[in-house]
Amino acid sequence: MKTQIDSIIETDGALILGAGIAGLFTALKLAPLPCIVLAGTRPGLSGSSAWAQGGIAAAMGEGDSWQSHAQDTIAAGAGLCDPAVVELVAREAPDRIEDLVAYGAPFDRKSDGTLALGREAAHSLPRIVHVKGDGAGAAISATLAARAAETDCITLLEGFHAIELALENGRVTGIFARSGLGPDARLILFRARAVILATGGLGALYAVTTNPLESRGEGLGMAARAGALIADPEFVQFHPTAIAIGRDPAPLATEALRGEGAVLVDASGERFMTAIHKDAELAPRDVVARAIHRQIMSGKKVFLDCRDAIGAEFPHHFPTVYGACMSAGIDPVRDLIPVAPAAHYHMGGIASDVQGRSSLPGLWVVGECASTGLHGANRLASNSLLEGLIFGARTADDVRGQLIAGAMRGLPPAPQRFASPAPPHILREAMSRDVALERDAQGLRAALGVINRLETITNEPALLNMAAAAKLVTAGALARQESRGGHWRSDYPEAKAPAVRTFMTLADAEKIAANAESQPSRISK
Ligand SMILES: Cc1cc2nc3c(=O)[nH]c(=O)nc-3n(C[C@H](O)[C@H](O)[C@H](O)COP(=O)(O)OP(=O)(O)OC[C@H]3O[C@@H](n4cnc5c(N)ncnc54)[C@H](O)[C@@H]3O)c2cc1C
Repeated sequence: MKTQIDSIIETDGALILGAGIAGLFTALKLAPLPCIVLAGTRPGLSGSSAWAQGGIAAAMGEGDSWQSHAQDTIAAGAGLCDPAVVELVAREAPDRIEDLVAYGAPFDRKSDGTLALGREAAHSLPRIVHVKGDGAGAAISATLAARAAETDCITLLEGFHAIELALENGRVTGIFARSGLGPDARLILFRARAVILATGGLGALYAVTTNPLESRGEGLGMAARAGALIADPEFVQFHPTAIAIGRDPAPLATEALRGEGAVLVDASGERFMTAIHKDAELAPRDVVARAIHRQIMSGKKVFLDCRDAIGAEFPHHFPTVYGACMSAGIDPVRDLIPVAPAAHYHMGGIASDVQGRSSLPGLWVVGECASTGLHGANRLASNSLLEGLIFGARTADDVRGQLIAGAMRGLPPAPQRFASPAPPHILREAMSRDVALERDAQGLRAALGVINRLETITNEPALLNMAAAAKLVTAGALARQESRGGHWRSDYPEAKAPAVRTFMTLADAEKIAANAESQPSRISK
């Protein structure tokens, strides 16, 4: 059954889906080109961006260099970073921080007025700009939203749920979005001369995540269902230290705490990271996350001990984490913080080039929903907000030169519309059980079975977008028969040479899933 479009909203300029840091920064860089920014939630508070705690990496300190930032990024990426992309990001980073300063971002400064730089895991030097200790995401998001709201050519629209890309003659010309719920729901076609996805990550497809529940891979799913090429979908980063107090999503204990000297201990107060990696608690994220996961799987509890390293400074230096702990009755000045790994960041995404172009004509992608080749198999801490800024600016430059007049002619077929679904519990459980920190063929086949069954019982576009995103992650993980960075296969524990990135379409993932159904898999609960 096809449904009616209730209204059409058109712009002569660009349409951006997503009002996190990537979407807002791109909109500001596009000015004076007219631009509509469409989002589910309020710009300034929207997406993972507003929750970012650590800050943004840029080689701006004495003795630091873009080469050192690039080297650290490549080392974390476990052989899969694109060196040309890493170089341009590391080189352009200081300029993008200066842009944020010009927009009014209130970065912490030293007494001499220069930027205060923090250190995070796997960075060889302090190079993280931050705001009020752990409040970078909230402050930068609020600053960009305020600038966007006062910029005449930018129209900010919240409360819309995008469900499908509109294509005309093979070119992306718009987005179908729903406003309202139930019988009052309206289906609106937004059309523009350039369409930019800035829809963030997919952590909320997992039962245990640090991401807001709106980060459920819908932009990735929409693009994949329209035929876009997807890169490295299997690489999901798990943050080692989500605060384990049974909340969904789980609050985060920022990496900067370990940067300040906080240590990981078991219930008897013993450190275990020193025996696992030379950098101990500051080893790459996947190493720390898997070490904690194994402790927990062996029946032990894991805690972050901040008492000696941070102590009484905690409430002032890390107010967000302090608030989260205190709300659960844990005083980190005196108590150990219980921690566990949680789905945190998607290194994979919609394949894009250095101008933000996807493989679909008319569609650009920016921020966490894109895969530029920067992160490889494992993201270096505080490189993701940076990626949104770098490619936001580059996309804006490219879009200005690429606007095609008259691309919108006919009326693309409208999708079916239903109420906004949450990702089903069974999907989130399957992803957390079988597509998380330790994977094997049996578990991945079982997860594909769950996803396949889900697709057969729904025609709700939003749910199909989530299922497509989950299928790409799982099929990519099944196809990659090695362990590398964030992707660990217990049945293939070694890395294989040469290191190759994954590029696949949804049709490729469907084939892998169909084939997996004919193989033995664990009975899913
Ligand atoms: C707790 C936490 C801490 C972090 N700390 C850091 C850090 O210190 N440094 C760092 O570099 N990175 C950090 N990250 C990662 C970083 O925050 C994200 O990668 C980054 O914010 C992504 O920005 P984005 O603009 O691409 O997407 P987001 O900020 O997630 O924004 C996505 C936007 O898309 C909209 N959207 C999505 N789907 C739809 C739909 N179907 N319809 C309508 N709107 C839709 C959302 O409403 C939102 O506006 C952290 C992440 C988390 C969760």
